[in-house]
Amino acid sequence: MSNSISLSQRIEYGLIRAAQGAAALNTPLSWEKLEIDENRSVWASYTPNYQPNSALRGTETADLCIIGGGYTGISTAYNFSQRYPNKRVILLEAKSLANGASGRNGGMMLNWVYGTGPMSDEMTARVYHSTYRTIDRIEETIKKHNLDVSYRRDGCFEVFTDEERANEARREVTYLNQIGIPLQFLEADEVKKHLNLNGIYGGLFDPSEGQLNGVQFIRGLRPVLESRGVQIYENSRVTKITEGKTIEVETTHGKVKAGAIVLAMNGYTGKLGYFRNGFFPLHSHVFATNPISDTEAAAIGWHGTAGFSDDLNRISYATRTNEGHIVFGGGSNISYGYLFNNRTAFPGTPASATAAFDDMHRTFGEYLTGAHILSHAHRWTGTLAISLRRNCSIGVRGEHKNVYYALGYSGHGVTAANMAGKAITDIYSDDEQEWRDMPFIQADFSPIPLEPFRWIGYQLMTRLTGRSPRQPHR
Ligand SMILES: Cc1cc2nc3c(=O)[nH]c(=O)nc-3n(C[C@H](O)[C@H](O)[C@H](O)COP(=O)(O)OP(=O)(O)OC[C@H]3O[C@@H](n4cnc5c(N)ncnc54)[C@H](O)[C@@H]3O)c2cc1C
Repeated sequence: MSNSISLSQRIEYGLIRAAQGAAALNTPLSWEKLEIDENRSVWASYTPNYQPNSALRGTETADLCIIGGGYTGISTAYNFSQRYPNKRVILLEAKSLANGASGRNGGMMLNWVYGTGPMSDEMTARVYHSTYRTIDRIEETIKKHNLDVSYRRDGCFEVFTDEERANEARREVTYLNQIGIPLQFLEADEVKKHLNLNGIYGGLFDPSEGQLNGVQFIRGLRPVLESRGVQIYENSRVTKITEGKTIEVETTHGKVKAGAIVLAMNGYTGKLGYFRNGFFPLHSHVFATNPISDTEAAAIGWHGTAGFSDDLNRISYATRTNEGHIVFGGGSNISYGYLFNNRTAFPGTPASATAAFDDMHRTFGEYLTGAHILSHAHRWTGTLAISLRRNCSIGVRGEHKNVYYALGYSGHGVTAANMAGKAITDIYSDDEQEWRDMPFIQADFSPIPLEPFRWIGYQLMTRLTGRSPRQPHR
C-alpha cells in the first residue's frame, strides 16, 4: 500500500498537515500502518458478503439513467420505478452501492434541511415536515420489504455548549411548538439522564430522529429495485456525459442512451464537470468503537437515545448502534479537510490521519467521562459536498430540461438525500405541489473561487479561524 502513494500525494498530505498546525506535525506519519487499516466504515462491515453487480458492457437505452448508487440515486430509483413501472431505469455506480457518503457517514437520521436560511412560519413547518415524512417513509420501506437493516428511532439531541445559545434554543422551541413542530428543550440535568455529556447547557430533543445503517439499507434495496425491472450496474464509472434530447452517458466499458439523467453523485459531481464552483468536496473523518454492552455504555454516561450533535463550528456528532458501537465524527478542525483541485479520493487511508483521529478521540473523551479508554474498531473518511451557504439544491437543468440533480447536503444528507428521490420524481412528473417554493428546489449555490484561491481560502478560513461555513439549519 505504501508504494501506491505517490510523491506528489505525500507532498500534498504534508502540506495539509502543515496547514493543520502543530498538533498534526507532532504526530509522525505512519505509512506502514496503512496496510492494515482499510478505509471501510462500520456500516459496511455488516454486509461482509455483498457482491457488486457486474459492469455495464455495450450500449443500452433507458428512459432514466441515474448516476450514483447512494441515497440520492437509490431513492430516485425507488420512487421513480414505483411511479413509472413501465419505464426503463438504469443505475450506474462507479464502485459498489453505498460506496460514497451514504455508506460512510455518522448514521444520524435527522430532520431539517441545512442552509435554508430564514423562512416564514409556514415554510419552516413545511421544511420540517418534509424531512419528518421522509424518516417515516424510510422506516415504512424497511418494514414493507422486510429489509435486514439496523436502525433506531428513539430521538437525537442537539446540545449547546454555550449558555447564550442554550437560551436562544429555549426561546426557539416555544416558537417551534406554536407552529406545530414537536421539539423539546431539555435542561442540562435532564439531557444527562439520557446522555451524560460534559460541558453542556441543555439540548434540543427531537424524538422522531434516529440512526440508520445506510449500507444495509441501500444494498438491501437492490433486489427490490431489480424485481421492478431497474437495471443496476456496479463498477461502472461514468466518464462522459453528452447532453441532448437523448443524453449519452459513457462508462469505461459501455454507454447508455437516455431520455433523462439524474446526477446523484453529491461530492463527486464536479468530476463530471457539473457544479464545480458550487461546493467543496470535503473529507470528513469518523471512527467507531468496538461494540460495548449497555452496562459499559451506561458507565460512560450513554443511557439511551440514538445520538447527539453539538453547536460548535467543527461539529461533533455521535450515535450508538444497535450492535453497541459508538460512532463519533467531527469534533476537531483537522477532522475535516479539503484537497487541492476538488480531489475526491483521500490520500492514503485513515491510518495516515492519526493526528485527526487522536484529536477527535480527545473530544470524545471530553464529552463522555471514561470514553477515552474505548478502542477504535473502524476508522474511515467520507466525501461530502459543502456549499458556501451550506444549502443543497434539487432540480432540473440543461437545454432539454432532462438533467436532474440533487446535491450539497453539507453533512446533513441522510434524510435529505432520501427525500431527493421523491422530489426528483415529482419534478419529472410536473407534480410539484409538495415542493412549491421550497428553498432548496432549484436553489443557487454561491460561487466558490477557482484554484488556487479555493484551496488557500479554505485553509485560511478553517485553519486560522477554526471556523467552517456553518449556517443555522432553520
Ligand atoms: C463522514 C460523513 C459523515 C456524515 N454524517 C452524516 C450524518 O450523521 N447525518 C446526516 O444526515 N448526514 C451525514 N453525512 C452526509 C450524508 O451522508 C450525505 O449527504 C448523503 O449520504 C449523500 O448521499 P448521495 O447519494 O447524494 O451521495 P453519495 O452517498 O456520496 O453517493 C454518490 C455515489 O456516486 C458514485 N459516483 C461518483 N462518481 C461517479 C461516476 N462518475 N459514475 C458513477 N458513479 C459515481 C459514488 O461511488 C457514490 O456511491 C455525512 C457525510 C460524511 C462524508
